[in-house]
Amino acid sequence: MNGDLSICITNRLTTAHAYLTPCAEVKLPARCISIAILTIRFIDTSEKVIFLSFDDGPEPVFTPLALASLKKYQSQATWFILGKQAEKHPALLGDIYQGDNDIGVHSYDHVSLTGLSPWQIIQQLERTKTLINAATGQFWPYFRPPNGAYNNKVLDAAAAVGFQWNVMWSVDPRDYQSTPQQIINHVLVNLQPGAIIVLHEVTPSTTQALPILLQEIGKRGYRARSLGQYLQEFSGGNEE
Ligand SMILES: [Zn+2]
Repeated sequence: MNGDLSICITNRLTTAHAYLTPCAEVKLPARCISIAILTIRFIDTSEKVIFLSFDDGPEPVFTPLALASLKKYQSQATWFILGKQAEKHPALLGDIYQGDNDIGVHSYDHVSLTGLSPWQIIQQLERTKTLINAATGQFWPYFRPPNGAYNNKVLDAAAAVGFQWNVMWSVDPRDYQSTPQQIINHVLVNLQPGAIIVLHEVTPSTTQALPILLQEIGKRGYRARSLGQYLQEFSGGNEE
């Protein structure tokens, strides 16, 4: 059992990419599967796809505008939402889901998870997960801790709530302090297959940049997709 567990922990702490085999796929004991969680920063693919992610929403102005841009360019993204925002705007979760986008958990109120007890972390994640499920009937097993701050305690708590993926990013245009043109330039300079791009729903710059960004990546042969279409393949759970 100890040997199995060490394999599992090795996977859990890997920060390289999602190409590694998760525990579930190598059929380790249930105890091991329960703590298996992978940290990913990009998707290992040669396909010209990128993964836009929006943190801190849903937000009543920016979320509908982002959804309209994604729809116009037949693209998808992944939201990492706050539970307290979801409580205020539950219908927006349904709108995100209807656009074939994914909804992961950021936390309930953007507290730093590393400073909390395991039980408090579980409450932050579980409460938000429940709100997503109530609005969409779905559970996407991805989470992204506020400020990208995590440790083993956070990962163990997330795994206990059922999360399989701790999603970091490979491209950060710092949209909260950038102009639309700066955001676009940063993403285009760093454009490569499988990039995960972190954006936020707190600034008009991101909203203004998004349609131009989608148009520009399209010209370069890239599409923006939701993480789920790719992570499920890696976990062997693609049902399509
Ligand atoms: Zn955040």
